[in-house]
Amino acid sequence: MERLQLLKALEEASCQLAVSVPVLSGARTIVANPEQALRLLQDKQTVYGELMGLSRTDYVEWLSSEGSVYCSATTQKGNRCRNAIVGATFLEPAAWKAVCESGGYCAVHGG
Ligand SMILES: [Zn+2]
Repeated sequence: MERLQLLKALEEASCQLAVSVPVLSGARTIVANPEQALRLLQDKQTVYGELMGLSRTDYVEWLSSEGSVYCSATTQKGNRCRNAIVGATFLEPAAWKAVCESGGYCAVHGG
């Protein structure tokens, strides 16, 4: 039996493919489908992102920034300000994504 068929058969027999996804506060257990479970072996970051409702890039950024979104201002040297937007730390993925799209400013830049 192929691996995917095996996992599908197990799923039909009520076996859940629970994945321990790294999140801000440790890990969250989320049920993957058989196709996602197999892809964990090649590219787990993409699957983690899917399970959290984010693209691979967004998931990596979200986790590494600890759910923070950086200020939209540019410093005098022309770099993006690296302070977090006021209130935009430790956000859940959906809220993080929304703030990323709307932007905002840190305390220094009038947030
Ligand atoms: Zn700023």
